[in-house]
Amino acid sequence: MTRQPKTGTCIFCDAEGSLEGEHVFAQWLRKALGIPGYRKHQVRLGPALHVARQWSKPVATSRVWCVCRACNHGWMKELEDQVKPHLAPLARRGPVAVPAPAAARLLVAWAFKTAAVGQEMQPNRLKPIDSAARQYLTFPRPALETTGDHVRIVR
Ligand SMILES: [Zn+2]
Repeated sequence: MTRQPKTGTCIFCDAEGSLEGEHVFAQWLRKALGIPGYRKHQVRLGPALHVARQWSKPVATSRVWCVCRACNHGWMKELEDQVKPHLAPLARRGPVAVPAPAAARLLVAWAFKTAAVGQEMQPNRLKPIDSAARQYLTFPRPALETTGDHVRIVR
């Protein structure tokens, strides 16, 4: 198993240097979902899918070292803080009405950010959200246009 480097290039702003461990799912969301207990994890490799590594840890606590401090404590924290009032009720109670388009924009941005971070998990090599797409989330914050059931990220 390859350990994630603690230095490198931030996936969002391309800054080079120390990287911070970002939870794929924020801890507030884990608490909102009420996910209890531990889950076994395995990394299987090769055509025979032999177990290369296994461990047990609380559910939904994976972190990836892929973002710089400025992004993690700046716009990413701001996005988590802004989406929490809308996403936490969704997590706890299921479908709820959210004020569109403002809340829809936040939820789409959060989902996109979460997917971009999640694709950095080791040993994943499939990364369909490329650097150009990730740039849309960094400042200057892009506009998210909603029309009906479609959302577009535009500059
Ligand atoms: Zn950054």
